[in-house]
Amino acid sequence: MGKTIHTPSVVLVTGGAGFIGCNLVRYLLRTDSDLRLVNVDALTYAGSLSNLQDVEKDHSQRYRFVQENICDEQAMAGLFEEEGFDTVIHLAAESHVDRSIDGPGAFLETNIMGTYVLLQAARAHWKGRDDVRFHHVSTDEVYGSLGSTGHFTEETPYDPSGPYSASKASSDHLVNAWHRTYGLPTTVSNCSNNYGPYQFPEKLLPLMISNALQGKDLPIYGDGKNVRDWLFVHDHCQALDLVVRQGEIGRMYNIGGNEEWANIDLVNLLCDTVQELVPRNSGHYRDLIKFISDRPGHDRRYAIDASRIRKELGWTPKHTFETGLRETIQWYLANSQWLDEIRTERYGGDRLGLLS
Ligand code: NAD
Repeated sequence: MGKTIHTPSVVLVTGGAGFIGCNLVRYLLRTDSDLRLVNVDALTYAGSLSNLQDVEKDHSQRYRFVQENICDEQAMAGLFEEEGFDTVIHLAAESHVDRSIDGPGAFLETNIMGTYVLLQAARAHWKGRDDVRFHHVSTDEVYGSLGSTGHFTEETPYDPSGPYSASKASSDHLVNAWHRTYGLPTTVSNCSNNYGPYQFPEKLLPLMISNALQGKDLPIYGDGKNVRDWLFVHDHCQALDLVVRQGEIGRMYNIGGNEEWANIDLVNLLCDTVQELVPRNSGHYRDLIKFISDRPGHDRRYAIDASRIRKELGWTPKHTFETGLRETIQWYLANSQWLDEIRTERYGGDRLGLLS
C-alpha cells in the first residue's frame, strides 16, 4: 500500500477543548506555522477554554474557537462554507465509559449523530474533491475484550461491550461507509488509553493523582487485574498528524504504546512516583489503595498491535510509560489550580456508572 501526501491548510478540529483535542491543537499550531485551525467544541462538562489559554495568546492570528454542537447541521454547514476547510480531525465525543452506563443517550447523540452531521457537511462542501481529508479519532474499545494473550489488529472484528464503545464503533462504520459509498477521503485511527496533561480527573490516572494529593482513597475496580495499553497523549498527537498527512485514504490505523499495565501495577507505580516527588507526611500513598466493586461490562484486557502505523508511516512513540507518567504527575503538580477548579466546580470525584 502506498503513502498519499496531504498538506493540511485550513483545519477543523472538533472537541479541541477536551483532553486529547487541546493537546492536538497545540501540537498542530506549533509544528506547522502555515496552517490555520478552527476548534469547534460545545464545552460540555469535559471541555474548557482553560485548557487553551496559551493557544489563544500565542496563535491568535491562526486560531479560532467556535462554541457549537457538532449535531447542529446548519451551524456545521455554515462553518464549512465560511472557513473552507480542507481537513477535518474529528475528536468531539462523549468519552467516559462510566457516564455511558448512567446515560447512554448523549453518547448516541454526539458520537453517532454528530459524526453523521460532520460527514454530511464535509461531503456537501467538498463535492467529490480528493485533495481533502476527514480523519476520525476512535478507540481500541470497539474491538471488545481480549483474553490473556493476543493483540487487536486492524482486522480484528468489532465487538463492543458498552454504550461508549458501541457508539464509537457505530461512528467508525459511518465514516468507512461514507468513504465507500460517496468516495469521501477518510481515514480512521483506533487508539489505546491515553494519559497526559489536561486529562479530566474522572479518568483513572488523573483521578488517582488528584485523590493521592488530597489524601483520599484510591479506588480500584474489581481485582485490579484489568489490563490497558497506555500511550502518552503527545505520542498520539504525533501519530494523528502523520495519519492525516500520509495515511492512505480509506485505511484504518491502530495506535498504541505497547505498554500493557494491569490497573493495580499502574497505581502502585503512580503511588511510588508521587511518594518520591511529594513524600507523604506519614506512611505511603499505596496505603490509600482501596478495591471497590467492578464496573458493569468491564473489559478484561486491551492490547494494540500498532505495526501498520509503525511500518507504513514510520511512527514510534517517544515516551515509555515510566517517563510519560512522571511527566504527567509533574504537570498536575505544577497545575494544581487547574485541578482545583474542576474539583470544586465540575466534578468532585464521585463514583459513576453503577447500575442502580
Ligand atoms: P474528552 O471527553 O476529554 O473531550 C471531548 C471534547 O468533546 C470536550 O471538549 C467536549 O466539550 C467536546 N464535545 C462533546 N460533545 C460535543 C458536541 N456534541 N459538540 C461539540 N463538542 C462536543 O475526550 P478525549 O479523551 O479528549 O477524547 C477525544 C476523542 O478521542 C474521543 O473521540 C474519544 O473517543 C477518542 N479516544 C480517546 C481515548 C482516551 O484514552 N482518552 C483513547 C482513544 C480514543
